Parts: sequence; C-alpha cells; structure tokens
Amino acid sequence: MAADTPPRGPDVLNGWKEIASYLKRSSRSVQRWERDLDLPIRRIPTPDGGAIVYALVADLEAWRQRQSDAFETQEPAAQDADASATSASEEIPALAAAKPLAAPWWERPIPLWAAIAATAVVALAVLAITTVVGYPLGGRPATWEFDGHQMTAYSTGGRRLWSHDFNRTVSTPMTFNRSNGFVGDANGDGAADLIVPVRYTSSQLLTTEESDAVVAFDADGRTLWSVQPDITLTAGDETFDGPWNVYDIVSGQSPRGPRVWIAFNHHTWWPGFVLEVTPAGDATVLMVQAARIHSLTHWPRPERPLLIAGGDLRDANGPQAGAIVVELSAPPVRWPGEGALSLTCADCPQGQPASVLLFPTSEVTRALLRPTGWVTRGKIEEDGLRLDVNDGFGFGTIVTLTADFAVAGYERTDRYWYVHRQLEQQGLVDHQAGDCPDLQGPMDVQQWRPDSGWQRQGVGLKISRPPRAD
Ligand SMILES: [Zn+2]
Repeated sequence: MAADTPPRGPDVLNGWKEIASYLKRSSRSVQRWERDLDLPIRRIPTPDGGAIVYALVADLEAWRQRQSDAFETQEPAAQDADASATSASEEIPALAAAKPLAAPWWERPIPLWAAIAATAVVALAVLAITTVVGYPLGGRPATWEFDGHQMTAYSTGGRRLWSHDFNRTVSTPMTFNRSNGFVGDANGDGAADLIVPVRYTSSQLLTTEESDAVVAFDADGRTLWSVQPDITLTAGDETFDGPWNVYDIVSGQSPRGPRVWIAFNHHTWWPGFVLEVTPAGDATVLMVQAARIHSLTHWPRPERPLLIAGGDLRDANGPQAGAIVVELSAPPVRWPGEGALSLTCADCPQGQPASVLLFPTSEVTRALLRPTGWVTRGKIEEDGLRLDVNDGFGFGTIVTLTADFAVAGYERTDRYWYVHRQLEQQGLVDHQAGDCPDLQGPMDVQQWRPDSGWQRQGVGLKISRPPRAD
C-alpha cells in the first residue's frame, strides 16, 4: 500500500528546510513557531510512525496576516532585546543573511518571551565577563546548530567556535523549550558550558527512536558529561519505558552543590521526571510526576533554594496547567497524581513537594477544544515568581506567586483577548470580551501544601488594559 504523498507544485514547501527558507529563518525557529505560535504545518504519517512535513504558501501567508493583526495589540519590546543580545558587526554572513537587520515584527518572538530570553542571555554574558575565565579566541559559546552527524557551536556574535562529531544523525529535540540553546555551568567551575539536548535519529523525519540525551561541553568543545535516561514508570497496568524527550534544562546551586536539572517527558503519554546531574555527570531522579513538565525554573533563595517544574498536572478531572514547587534541601519528590492511577517506579523518590498549584483551564482553551493549558515559562521577579501559561493557542495567562508561593496575581495577555474576540466572531464564545465572566468572578486556583492538603483560592483577574470590543 503506497503511503500518501504531499501535493506538489510551486505553492507547496516540502520539509523544514524549504519552509524555513521561505520564511527566511532557521529550521529551529520555524519549528518553535509551530509549537508556540501555531504556524500551520501539515503532516502526512509514514508507515514507520514518522511524518512527512510540508506547508502551503497560502497557509503561511494567512498565518502571517493573523500574527500581524495580533501583534498590533502587543507592545513592541523585542527589537531592542534582540539588538542587545547580538553584536551585528561580529555576525558571520550565513547567520546575518538568515536574520535580516530590519526584521519585520513577525520574525521576532512574542515580545515578552523575547525580553525574558534576552535578560537571561545578558545576565549570563555579564556573569561570563565578571568571572575570570579564559574563553577561546572566538568568544564564549552561546548557541549551536546540528547538521547531519555534526554539532557546531557559535559565539554570542555568531562566530563558529568548534564542531563535535556524534558519528550518527543528530538534531535538536523539537520538544526543547529554549530555542536559543542553553548555557550553564555543567561542571561547577564557574565557567559557562554548552548544555545540549540531543535527539538521535536515523532518518530525516526526526522521529524519536530512543530517549534524548543531554551532553555538556566546555568552552573548548570538550565533552564534560552525557546523560540519557533509562527509566520505567508504571501506573496501574500501564508501563512507560520511554523514549523520553527533553523539554527543558536549567542549572544552578543546590545545597548539595552546583547542579544541572533536566525535564524529560514520555514521547507520547503523560508522565515526566526531572533528572539532577552533578558536575561529574552522575544523574539521579529529583522528581517524578503525573503529567508533562514543560519548564524548569531555579529559584536560588539562599535560605531555601527551590526548583519549580511548570507544565500540566493530572488530578481526578484530567490535566490542568500547574506547577510543582520542589525544595532542593529536601529529599527527591514523587507527585503520583490524583485518582485511581498512581505513578510508581523502581527506586521512586518518596518525598513530597513543598507545594502544588493547579490553574483553571480557560474558556478560550475549551472553546478551541484544546484539553488544557500548561506553564511554559517561569521567571524570578523581585518579590516572587512569575509563571507564563500557554492556554493551548500560545501565551495567554500570567500568574504571579509571592515568596511563599501563594498566588498574588492572575492576568490575561492581549493575545488572549485577541483570540477571545476571534472566537466571538465565529460564535464559539457567546459574549463579548468586555462582558467576560472571568472579569466578574474570581479565578479558581487550587493549591496543595504538605500541612494543609488541597485548598481553593479565588483570585481576581487583574486587567492591565480593558479588553476592547471591535
Ligand atoms: Zn469570556
């Protein structure tokens, strides 16, 4: 039986390379746009469980227009952030060509994310300058690209630093949350290392055939360590033995010393776990949870350092956007989920988290028939922690937590209200944004703590800008 093939013709873009070339960005950027901005990519399943990727020019142009409309309600903060993260004069021609100087707004990420990413890059750059460390002549490593068997590291200015040969086909996991790569301290020496998620593939289709690995390289391209999980989780009669995909990586200080934390999720189903890796490359399970972990945030409070795993969490009613707060001075944690299926594993950690938070599934998420939102990013702020929620269509909700991780604020983004208005026009939401019930009643947040169990907290929706009807 012949497999389906994509349509042919000048209006069809076959594969990531053609799509990326049409949009004048890297394959990695367009893959991220598919995940975060609903870039309309089409797929035809193949008999080996993979898929042929293609796109129609008309789809991409319609998407560009939608993004353009949506952007008019956003604050354009990305341009400066981009400029501060990259020195144009140092850019090599290949990268400069892929990144036009006067990029139209839609070639930039959602402004808020860009600001967060740029802040992190700048902070790391400052750290690198103030630490007395010798970097190779080309500069410190900042990002990387895979091509065939090779991985090539680039400096902040886009200069090629070194390459590493994996002796097999490798790619960046499409599930990885940090599209600009991750620079952290992998071996505890204070110098910035590249900590690289690696997907091993045998085909162009980038399917998951085995668990993703994470490989740490020092500034000169020497391999410091490599981890690839081999873990089996069970729930009732169900067994989950991978492959496991990398979603996020962070590094920082734990009371046990410098550590790298990696979020892995099952390639198809719901369980996930966090590995903690020592400077020597020894990995242990820090946390196991029922449902996916999309983002890790290290909260380096001197008296009580925390790791926050954001994603979705399962309770008896199914998944909801949420976060687990893990005390780094306490034993590793298991959050088995509510209801009949309880997650277990061999040598599973038995500790309890410091808190668990569940955020209500938004009306827009339900109207779009998406099962749930998820916490896609965390950011430490002056007096607490900010969690960004992807409501199933993109960045729609901001939840802020106090230093004691109580909910201090709940906000919808302009993008949320934009999608709300689109749904009104399609008759999928029966009221105007200005009359939204969310603006009247409190948001129903559930919070678990070891001493008090589950409690409900009604949090009023904060409105920075009243939604317009138009
Ligand atoms: Zn509404």
